[in-house]
Amino acid sequence: MWNKVYVEENLIETPRVKSILAKVKREPITLKSYDEIWGQSKKPYLHKRDSLNLFLAEKKGQLLKLAPDAYGQLGEPHYYFIHAYNCIYECQYCYLQGYFNTPDIVLFINHEEIISEMQKTLEENPDSRVWFHAGEFSDSLALTHLTGELELYHAFCRKNPRAIIELRTKSVNIKELILLEPLPNFIISFSLSPQKMGKLIDLKTPSTQSRLKTMDELNKLGFTLAAHFDPIIYQDQFKIQYEELLETMQSLHLTKALSYLSMGVVRFTKDVYREVERNYPDSPLHSTPMVKSFDNKVRYNHPMRMWMMNTVKELALKYGVQEPAIYFCMEEHA
Ligand code: SF4
Repeated sequence: MWNKVYVEENLIETPRVKSILAKVKREPITLKSYDEIWGQSKKPYLHKRDSLNLFLAEKKGQLLKLAPDAYGQLGEPHYYFIHAYNCIYECQYCYLQGYFNTPDIVLFINHEEIISEMQKTLEENPDSRVWFHAGEFSDSLALTHLTGELELYHAFCRKNPRAIIELRTKSVNIKELILLEPLPNFIISFSLSPQKMGKLIDLKTPSTQSRLKTMDELNKLGFTLAAHFDPIIYQDQFKIQYEELLETMQSLHLTKALSYLSMGVVRFTKDVYREVERNYPDSPLHSTPMVKSFDNKVRYNHPMRMWMMNTVKELALKYGVQEPAIYFCMEEHA
């Protein structure tokens, strides 16, 4: 699947890089720093379909970022950690298409440094739980069979019950995950769209049905689960389709099992919106008008967003999600 594989020269002899290279079976090209090439010139997003390069690198600078308000459940600090840039999937609404200059993937391998930063942050917040979210710039599970870092983050959670790690994913690649013991503070969260909508816009991802099957498997093994209905997109059958999704989740005993269910209506920065229009001109994303909203993002108008979220919230309650588990993501107010 990789066109070229680049490795920073000081990492080439490290066991982690050797193990990844053995799995990708590609002769690496060495370079001093990944960003000598990565993102230096504009590579159109859709070129990822035919020519995706992989970079193995060390993350320098900020390893954790404070998440914006309303990113997670209120009252506790939320950070996200950066262990990869870009994703093998191709969701039409993905903000990465307007965020980086290139869709090429970077896997950062200095997980020990990221974890030591997490430990420091935990100690700086002695009175509360602290959340660490993965998956802001990539999918958290899709490449874990290559990267092998899950057990390090898991060990951090086991040692620090006050730390909560969220692995956000659309992947069903749980080979590495199920080797680990379930922990209450090691949360696997699945982004879900109704099956029909997912088929149109979540390109190259496992189907909603496969994701639900994987959630069922993890639930039976005792893993802590969460879900994101985000982005919620309007179309004629929107209510019926969410009802079907929640009904299936209930039949698998997933609605009651969720630690949380976040909901967010589709939204874009101006740059990403322009890219979406260019890359997916026929997408159902364009069938309902959007306006510039309170944070300069492009969204449906406020009454419509609130109506959509409240509609899905009522359905979630009807099918057994606990009210305190539901929150609205990246909105002005509920
Ligand atoms: S799974 Fe997430 S990161 Fe990957 S393309 Fe879809 S929205 Fe983007």
